[in-house]
Amino acid sequence: MPRLTPLRRQYLEIKRQHPDAILFFRLGDFYETFDDDAKTAAEALDLVLTSRPVGKNQRVPMAGVPHHAAEGYIARLVARGFKVALCEQIGSETVDGLMPREVTRVFTAGTVMEPGMLDARRPNYLATAIHDGQRAGLAYADITTGAFATTQLASPRALAEELARLAPAELVLPDDEAAVTDMPVVSRLPRWRFEEGNARQTLLRHFGVQSLDAYGCEGKSLAIRAAGALLHYLQETQRGGVGQIQRLATYSLDGFMALDSATRRNLELTETFLGDRRASLLGILDRTVTPMGARLLRERLTRPLLDVAALNTRLDEVEALHGSGLARAALRDTLKSVPDLERLANRAVSGRASPRDLQNIEVALAAVPALREATADLPALATLAAALDSCDEIAGLIQSAISDDAPASLGKIGVIRPGFSAELDGVMTSSAHAREWVAALEPRERQRTGIASLKVGFNKVFGYYLEVTHANADLVPDDYIRKQTLTNAERYITPELKEYETLILNAEERILAIERRVFAEVCGRVGDAAPRLLATAAALAGLDVTAALAEVAARRDYARPALRDDIGLEITAGRHPVLELGDGLDRFVPNDTRFGERSRIQIITGPNMSGKSTYLRQVALIVLLAQIGSFVPAAAATIGLTDRIFTRIGAHDELHAGRSTFMVEMVETAQILNHATERSLLILDEIGRGTSTYDGLSIAWAIVEYLHNHPRLRPRTLFATHYHELVGLAELLPLVANFNVAVAEEGEDVVFLHAIVPGGADRSYGIHVAQLAGLPRDVIHRAGEILKELERHAPTAAVEPSHLRRPQQAALFPETSPILDELAELDVTAMTPMEAINMLYAWKRRYGGET
Ligand code: ADP
Ligand code: MG
Repeated sequence: MPRLTPLRRQYLEIKRQHPDAILFFRLGDFYETFDDDAKTAAEALDLVLTSRPVGKNQRVPMAGVPHHAAEGYIARLVARGFKVALCEQIGSETVDGLMPREVTRVFTAGTVMEPGMLDARRPNYLATAIHDGQRAGLAYADITTGAFATTQLASPRALAEELARLAPAELVLPDDEAAVTDMPVVSRLPRWRFEEGNARQTLLRHFGVQSLDAYGCEGKSLAIRAAGALLHYLQETQRGGVGQIQRLATYSLDGFMALDSATRRNLELTETFLGDRRASLLGILDRTVTPMGARLLRERLTRPLLDVAALNTRLDEVEALHGSGLARAALRDTLKSVPDLERLANRAVSGRASPRDLQNIEVALAAVPALREATADLPALATLAAALDSCDEIAGLIQSAISDDAPASLGKIGVIRPGFSAELDGVMTSSAHAREWVAALEPRERQRTGIASLKVGFNKVFGYYLEVTHANADLVPDDYIRKQTLTNAERYITPELKEYETLILNAEERILAIERRVFAEVCGRVGDAAPRLLATAAALAGLDVTAALAEVAARRDYARPALRDDIGLEITAGRHPVLELGDGLDRFVPNDTRFGERSRIQIITGPNMSGKSTYLRQVALIVLLAQIGSFVPAAAATIGLTDRIFTRIGAHDELHAGRSTFMVEMVETAQILNHATERSLLILDEIGRGTSTYDGLSIAWAIVEYLHNHPRLRPRTLFATHYHELVGLAELLPLVANFNVAVAEEGEDVVFLHAIVPGGADRSYGIHVAQLAGLPRDVIHRAGEILKELERHAPTAAVEPSHLRRPQQAALFPETSPILDELAELDVTAMTPMEAINMLYAWKRRYGGET
């Protein structure tokens, strides 16, 4: 093996421990990367790739960044999914000619704390997942807020859904577990880290407890395994400890409305199909003015409640601010300048707070009295207001400890306010005193010795000295100690001069060191108060969300929903919260919704572009808004709490690429049939459209029958379809009712009224849509002729509403529905696409009449 330099050997040793990270290796004022890391970094960061000698006749690639600019570069790498291990020089002395070095921090997408690397308005979750083939464990944490939670789930499918809901920035899996597609950054831990014994030990040791009872996960082995592995990963990356994780919450999905990922996508909750956040439901609702509020609102939106009492508390709060525009304005105005107390407090706990961060904590606390004042007359807000704690001692401590004009970060003198630390003041005054003393020395000694030419000077080798020419040598007093002889002068020192010299030279370093220590103490005391600070932060967030929802309600004319523990659902003049704001829309037509005993399942027919999809989504969104504790876009609404909302959109209607297959549609539909309950709300939009007409119609028909007849099901259902034949179901099934979108014919022209009315639609008005789309008049006209001709020769049920009858295909599924029973039996998640296709072919042969 060729001889390597000691530095190279040190590098390789450290790199060996961080094979999956880009190693930022501190060399003087730079962080350097080497070998493949250098190539990656140079490519990703536009750095110049150079090389460095590492031994006799050997060079390796190198690329570096200045240490003071490192954070920005690290942020860019982390944003691209890389990990960065930061290797620092430890201490200031070389050992055997080499600086000791150590990795002090590993930056990963799910564990960064730097504001510059984070989106302030959303949480930054790190998640771990583990399963035993059947059940699964999932834990997540946000070290910027101290959130740490774990759950045990019944199936890998539930795990995938919960992961989709959380949208973590990083997912840690056992090293031998296949990565899930669609996932963000995936990191690895050895599988034994996920073993129950190890995981439990990690948790017990971190929390300093004997059992996990207090955290509610005792007995839930998969939840423990996920949580323990997660904590271990945090400790590995943070090095300095993860004090901000102060408790673990074990949660269950039972308390929340379930929204699978397809539904969340279809309802465009946090972004639209096209990735637009502003036109999503969250975009419309989010009038919060603090990052804490923004994060809380997002969390509430992804996790609607099932608890009437809890929701009514939220609604009471919103109503109070809805009713008082003055209080709302005052509150929002004050909140606007409140910094992110939650993340700031956690930086104090983790020891990463800057002087500016502490000052911002004080700024946040200073807003408390004004917020109390603004809410004083609103009893409904008393609980939130009472939770605001101005933490006076902490604010006072920061005020007295940190200088007004402190530098933003440590490393420069002037962080600590004079008068706070006697020791620091002592060093400051004595160094000032020493400078004055040295400055006054020359005149003083000239006078004492009578040597008019005596000089005080300084050089690097001897420090301060007194210089006397040979001519005056006999006047030199006894206490002078000779240090150096020059051609025509002697240089002396005195013990006192040396003392002052030490004071002066050490002062700056000492001041920096003391400030650092004092700051760390202050930071520690602030960190100790974190539970109180975080409680205040939570109350701030709650007020912000409440004020935002009240603001939206007031501006958009929303009404407070009445919540019930039953399966009723009644909406008067409901609107679609996003589309009603659409540009180019003259007027949004409100619609009523009412699910009665004889209209549990509603078939909605109507021409293309008449407003079916809009109506369906609007009902789902109103229910969802009610269950996060928001007012709703309607004149009035009574909502029976809904345990799950399912939305399924026929394949051809689903816009975004990659999922537009009939297969996906059927997989998702099978999910509903297996999981819906009587308390669910189903939104089925053009289901069955992704295949040829008769297949699609048959499947749609059979699905409605199944929903209707299965005793576990009978959920409130809105089924929009362009299969007019389906209106025949209402005659056969008692819980099914028909609705359609009203159309007015004015002479030759047809006008879509966007109003949902009882009864089935009679025509599809496809030609009218073509006209709206701008097809040439001649084409429209000719199409009209052809249609008339066709209708004359082959009249269909669709054009003659009085001749409602079952479509022929439906006869294939008389009282029972073999295909549906088979579909329900299928474990679709266990099938390969090929098996699924073969299954479809088999059905097609058996039921579809073709080969
Ligand atoms: P469909 O599903 O019946 O094809 P959509 O729900 O997609 O129709 O609606 C088509 C368009 O009609 C929407 O983009 C919107 O511009 C308009 N629209 C829908 N519902 C309404 C309404 N209630 N009031 C006003 N315009 C509406
Ligand atoms: Mg539609």
